[in-house]
Amino acid sequence: MAAKILDGKAIAQKVRDEVREGVARFAAAHGRPPGLEVVLVGEDPASVTHTRNKERVSNEVGIRGRLRALPAGTTEAELLALIAALNADDAVDGILVQLPLPGHIREHAVLDAIAPAKDVDGLHPVNAGLLALGRPGGLAPCTPVGCMRLLAEAGVELAGARAVVVGRSHLVGRPMAQLLLAQHATVAIAHSRTRDLRAICREADVLVAAAGKAKLIGGDWIKEGATVIDVGMSRDDAGKLVGDVDFEAARGRAAWITPVPGGVGPMTIASLLEATLRAAEARVAKQRP
Ligand code: NAP
Repeated sequence: MAAKILDGKAIAQKVRDEVREGVARFAAAHGRPPGLEVVLVGEDPASVTHTRNKERVSNEVGIRGRLRALPAGTTEAELLALIAALNADDAVDGILVQLPLPGHIREHAVLDAIAPAKDVDGLHPVNAGLLALGRPGGLAPCTPVGCMRLLAEAGVELAGARAVVVGRSHLVGRPMAQLLLAQHATVAIAHSRTRDLRAICREADVLVAAAGKAKLIGGDWIKEGATVIDVGMSRDDAGKLVGDVDFEAARGRAAWITPVPGGVGPMTIASLLEATLRAAEARVAKQRP
């Protein structure tokens, strides 16, 4: 069986079109577009590219996206002061601080300072807590939300399915497992200390690979007919972008598979736009008398 390709580019375009319509409705109703502030400290080349993309794509759908590029020497106190100002600014609906931060700034102190209602990356403990408790109303990290949309678009039945998530980071693995659990999958989380990862992966009806290790998962680790979501992004020896899954080998066994690039990657930004619109709508709904 040759797997069907889950085309993240096409699905992300669909999400962006939906957001564009929602943004236009919001702007017409409230006299301003939703606002997204992307905060970058330093000049890490990958982070510069990511943040510029986020600013550009948000403006393309009508969101007022703004990149705040701060010098590498910015102190933690200066960054916290900026976040406090953005929290207080009524025209700002979403705040995203690009990670990783320089070593002299404590990541937790910064993430915890973002108002939960504006935390479009879903990394504040309040939002992580709501997700873990299975309570609605919070904001979840964009990459796993994008993965869930891919699964929905493929029409994968999650209730009762065995799902395996490889990776337990706060950005991808953990929230991914929570979102799958909320859809009634039976979820296992694997990590670097997991014994016999191959045997665990072979049980997965839905396999989400988020280890960041090039081609960690071989073709014979895939259950026949599984859905494979490859979040990993690494460079191989030739400098080519590759995922955690041996794509060519796995596509002979899977029913659905995401390519790298062109799978999960485009969905992350699309989910950020969606989260900004949702955050804006939720904030104005709360302010209504
Ligand atoms: P991370 O914080 O480094 O976490 C990696 C996780 O994988 C950890 O939980 C680690 O286990 C686990 N792991 C590492 N080696 C393993 C192995 N050999 N076997 C089993 N588990 C292993 O990375 P992340 O931020 O979650 O990102 C993961 C990957 O996704 C990276 O390649 C990243 O570039 C990519 N990513 C892509 C997007 C996108 O938009 N496409 C977005 C975010 C991330 P321990 O906890 O035991 O260390």
